[in-house]
Order: sequence, then structure tokens, then C-alpha cells
Amino acid sequence: MKRVAILGSTGSVGRNTLAVVDAFRDELTVVALAAGYIDLLAQQVAQYRPEVVSVRELRDVERLRQLTHAEVDIVHGDAGACAVASLGSADVVIAAIVGAAGIPPVHAALKAGKRVGIANKEVLVAAGDVMTKTARENGGEILPVDSEHNAVHQALRCGGREEVLRIILTASGGPFLKRDLSTFGDITIEAALAHPTWRMGNKISIDSATMMNKGLEVIEAHHLFAMAPDRIDILIHPQSIVHSMVEYVDGSIMAQLSTTDMKFPIQYALLYPDRITGPFARLDLAKIRTLEFLPVDSHRFPAVELAYQACRSGGSMPAVLNAANEVAVERFLAGELSFTSIVEIVSRVLGRHSREVSAISSVDDALHWDTWARNEARGIDVALTRKP
Ligand code: MG
Repeated sequence: MKRVAILGSTGSVGRNTLAVVDAFRDELTVVALAAGYIDLLAQQVAQYRPEVVSVRELRDVERLRQLTHAEVDIVHGDAGACAVASLGSADVVIAAIVGAAGIPPVHAALKAGKRVGIANKEVLVAAGDVMTKTARENGGEILPVDSEHNAVHQALRCGGREEVLRIILTASGGPFLKRDLSTFGDITIEAALAHPTWRMGNKISIDSATMMNKGLEVIEAHHLFAMAPDRIDILIHPQSIVHSMVEYVDGSIMAQLSTTDMKFPIQYALLYPDRITGPFARLDLAKIRTLEFLPVDSHRFPAVELAYQACRSGGSMPAVLNAANEVAVERFLAGELSFTSIVEIVSRVLGRHSREVSAISSVDDALHWDTWARNEARGIDVALTRKP
């Protein structure tokens, strides 16, 4: 029986993780949860009876206690999330807290030598060097839950590292793959949230629409697989069936395919290295019939090149890219910005940072540049960036 801790249990990945636990009751059990949405968390506590639960704010502690009446240890804040992440009895931690808030608990889990299934790519983008080093030094292990990296992880089992030529990340292209470029300034929040193949949280849906998501995934792959950015390519694949590929030196390309359901990569991370029959909807390729692939149009998706540049410069640049993007997306979702201003703001913040790029050698370094970039991105005048 593997004991599971979930950081972000009320979000999309967290709920899918619990669905996987439900499907493998003989193999998996929940020991700790951390989340922000108290009503749903109270239901989860009643159902899964974890040892420890962490909430965001002190005031939520009492509220959760009243809602659950359960004998459960309730902690809160960053320290609470870190306690859940490093709980002695947990065998595997699923990290699905959105944004920079996920950095301290993932670090705590790796420091405690845990196996961590990382769904929060921002952790690796902003603090990848620290996370991989901490894992190495403490016997921790990172398993990617992001579907593309999970596919790469699987495809890498087909050969030795010296035999790998390149990683090919697939991208759906999002909702604006074919939209007339001259109308990008008129894109509404609703249109940007309407992802054609995946059902996801708001932030990642907007990132998919700008394709910043794929740019962040290039940086994520660079850290996870110790691969130079010029050996990580992106291919648009609108059906989202091939989740990514690895090309070997002999010309063979290994791909991983499944339905567009996060439960597959979550199951892989929870049960690794085992493969067990599960109940989730299987792929019927005869029904799908056509798989398309096309190159990325960098004029349409300028976020991709920005992310490659940040990855090549390394150090604090990816943390700044990530934080500036997070704020720009928040501002777009709040109705403050046009769609095209998201990437414009990120680009300006990167420009301001380009002469002071420094190494990220601790969680504090990552959080310092994260905060700096957030303030910069908040301060950029909307009037300058809004489409007339
Ligand atoms: Mg992904």
C-alpha cells in the first residue's frame, strides 16, 4: 500500500488524484491533504480520513474543524504545506499547488527524500536547479505529472541517455491556432478559457492560449531531463493524443499516447514503476483516425521564443518569466489587459531583468526574483498596453 500526500487537493489535478486513489483502493491510501477551498476540503477529510490537513489561513483552521468534526491534525500556511509535503508516513507526494506557493512544500518534500509527482510546472521553472540538486542530495525523486513530461519520462525508458537525440514536446496549439491574427487584440476572457482538448484550471488555460504553457514546459523539460534547450523541440498536435516523444540517435521516435485525461499521468506517478489495469477510458485510435502535426508559428505565439530565451540565459531569468506571466494572466483574467498585452508585459519585465540575471541557489533566491518580477509586472501601465 502506497501512502499519498496531496498538495492542492481541491484543484483540478488534486481531484483527479483522488479519483485515481478511488480506482486503486488496494494500492493507494491518502495520508495528508493541503488545499485552499475549505468546503470541498471538509468533504475530502470526511471521506479519506487523512492524518494531517493544511489550510492556507489561520482563520480556516477553526472553520475546517467545525465542518469536519474529525480527529485530524489541522495546520496552516507555508509551514503547514511543508509539514504535509514531508510527512513521515507519506510515500509519494503529488504537488499541484498553483504558482510560486508550491515552491517551499516541494522543496520540503525533496529534502525529506520523498518521491514527488510534480504537476505544478512553475516550481521547476522558477527553482529547477534547486529542486534537482535537493533531490540528488537527499534521495528524493521527481516524477513529472505534466502530461508531456510524463510522456517523455515513459519514452526515455526505451533507451540509454547517450542514445537520446532530442525531446519533442507536443502542443495542442490552444483555441487560437487558426484565428485571424489581426483579431488577437479582441480576444475575450471566455474565448481564451475555451481550450479545445483539455479541461483545466483558468491559469493554465490562458497559458495554453498564449502557448506560454509550452514555453514553460521547455524549461521544465530542461530541468527534469538535464537536456539543453536546443535539444527540446515543440510540435503542434491539435488532437492532444500523442503527449510527447523522444527521438533517438538511430532515427527511431518513441511516443506515448492516451486519451486526454490527467488520471493517466497521475496514475503513472503514483504507481511507478508498476503498470496496473485501471478503469479509465482507453484510447480508440480507429475512432480518432487522424493525428496531425505542424510546426509552431512563432509570430502567432511569441511567448514560445521568450521562454526559450529565458531558458538559454538560465539563472533567475526563468523565475522572472514565470512570475511576470502569472501576474499578467491574473490581470488579463481581471479584465485589465488585452490578450496580446500578456506577452508584452512578460517581455518588458524580462528586458528590465536582463542586466541583473543571477544564479538561483536557494528557495529564497527563487522567491526573491519571483516577488521582484511580480511587482514589476503589476506596475506596468495598462494604458500603454491596452489595445486602442
Ligand atoms: Mg502540459
